[in-house]
Amino acid sequence: MKIGILGAMEEEIHLLGKEMTGSTSEVRGRREYINGQLFGHDIYLAFSRWGKVAASCSATTLIERYGVDYLIFTGVAGGVDPDLTIGDIVIADTLVQHDMDVSFLPQMKEFEIPLLGRADFPARQEEVKKAKMAVENWIREELNGQVSAKALDEFAIVKPKVICGTIASGDQFISDANRVLQLRQKISNLRCVEMEGAAVAQIAYEYDIPCLVLRTISDKADDDAIIDFPRFITSVAAFFTCGSVLRLLKEWD
Ligand code: SAH
Repeated sequence: MKIGILGAMEEEIHLLGKEMTGSTSEVRGRREYINGQLFGHDIYLAFSRWGKVAASCSATTLIERYGVDYLIFTGVAGGVDPDLTIGDIVIADTLVQHDMDVSFLPQMKEFEIPLLGRADFPARQEEVKKAKMAVENWIREELNGQVSAKALDEFAIVKPKVICGTIASGDQFISDANRVLQLRQKISNLRCVEMEGAAVAQIAYEYDIPCLVLRTISDKADDDAIIDFPRFITSVAAFFTCGSVLRLLKEWD
């Protein structure tokens, strides 16, 4: 199996890149695709940049050019479920594009992807369950050895939770409590918002391959977004991404 791993921010995936052995790389469409091995798996790693178009382009290249047959997207997200706090991890059991709306046309529902007849892209539930277990194992056994106590302290991260649910993606950075409320009313079991996952899930659906989206909560998508976002990415999220994905690959059967 060839596994494609995507992240929207360079800082989020570079640690994973450093762990890969036998790496070679190629630049296409202004993106670098790194091929190497992690725990015996054939991995293609790329930094997609932000947003649905950028992520779709990278996902399609991974499938068409490199023949990946599994996609993982990882990075940070804004938590909209009040139970989530900074540092918790969400694994998508389904994904929706919250900025898609052609409902003014007859028979189209809000969020429905035109000509595809669906609004949601469910993940394979068995794999979501396995991923949740792997990430929980990483939190219990490895997190404290990999993320500095100072960084955890700075962002008040004690024991992160791993929650499965709906992730909504759109080409907007959301920092508005009213918008969060509105989305929560419209999208059932919504846990967090970001800008890429559901686009990659759509590509995976159309090519009939599995897609796993894992997100570390970086903010609450409201006006109280954390002050030092870049610091959160480099001192916390990069390690969460790398550690949890490595554990997932290690436990992969
Ligand atoms: N403002 C930040 C960077 C924005 S992060 C900075 O100062 O550097 C944008 C990325 O984080 C996107 O790839 C998106 O998927 C994710 N993200 C995190 N929180 C988000 C939110 N509240 N709304 C939308 N996307 C979010």
